[in-house]
Amino acid sequence: MKMKDMRQRMPGIYEVRLSANQNSIDEINIFLIPGKKGERSLMIDAGFKKRSCLAKMEKVLFTLGITYDKLDIFLTHKHHDHSGLASEYASLGARILMNPEENRHHYDCLYYNHDHGTDEDQYRVLRSVGVTPEGTPEIWEMFMEIRRRVMENRGWEFEVHQFPYMPVMEGQVLNYGNLTFEAVLLKGHTYGQMGLYERKHRILFCADQVIDGIVPIVGTTYPDEHLLEGYFKSLERFKHEFADCTLFPAHREPITDVKKVVNRIIFAYLDKTDIMKHILDRSKRRMTTKEVACLAYGMENIPEDTKEFIKLKMVMSKTFSCLEYLRDMDFAIRTEENGTYYWQSPEL
Ligand SMILES: [Zn+2]
Repeated sequence: MKMKDMRQRMPGIYEVRLSANQNSIDEINIFLIPGKKGERSLMIDAGFKKRSCLAKMEKVLFTLGITYDKLDIFLTHKHHDHSGLASEYASLGARILMNPEENRHHYDCLYYNHDHGTDEDQYRVLRSVGVTPEGTPEIWEMFMEIRRRVMENRGWEFEVHQFPYMPVMEGQVLNYGNLTFEAVLLKGHTYGQMGLYERKHRILFCADQVIDGIVPIVGTTYPDEHLLEGYFKSLERFKHEFADCTLFPAHREPITDVKKVVNRIIFAYLDKTDIMKHILDRSKRRMTTKEVACLAYGMENIPEDTKEFIKLKMVMSKTFSCLEYLRDMDFAIRTEENGTYYWQSPEL
């Protein structure tokens, strides 16, 4: 079987790399495990909501002899690059599998889910991180512009449409081809992210939990989810239970030196939280998440262009998780006023 779009990573495991657009480094790895004759096949993640991505996948599915009525798609988490095409695949007849915890919020700073929930969800989230029409009108307007695009059906690449799915629980066993997978909870990158662990062959499809050369975003804008604490616990599991595995992340190359890659990520997060601790320690007043984010990541107060705006969305989520962690460690105090969270050093 030869095809430039697809490579065989191991016997029975194929990888397809999809791009968000031609001149972007935004890429995702989609994995396919064809089923035995007459049985169901597995696709891990759905990819970007792009015609070009669907067209590429249709070619691959045809080559592997996989039809939609025999296709299961395991969504690792509900981010646009992983779940963008899920609603499309569902309408074509594929069965979607996902941890229901990924549906716990209608909106966060990183993704947009406009088929359920209300406008209020978005207003509440923005206000909680310190983005308000009265305090930060320019940034508020950038968020509202996207909202209008979504509502007018002009679409937005970070938007995820609703889809029917079968809930997957931690520890659930799934068989495809000659492989036996266990669903493992990978709390950190998102609250309910899940991976697939193949115990016998020492393989773990780890989604965005561990990526080589990148510090994955641990992002939430909801209080008391303890995402960074959960992430560190999960990474300890990687260093022990999964240390001898080959990791297949959703981005970049497979990882065999698990401990080294994991240690680099832990160190980067401790470094970032330390910077935020210093910001709070030196501040003479309490600060919003947005304010700490701009200082910690050296960003302008108002994003200059779309690229900077997207970056701000990401770092606000990341900063929120870090500040929650500092609070878990008693290095920060969180107060709430008019729906906005404020952070301060315990010494202030
Ligand atoms: Zn993600």
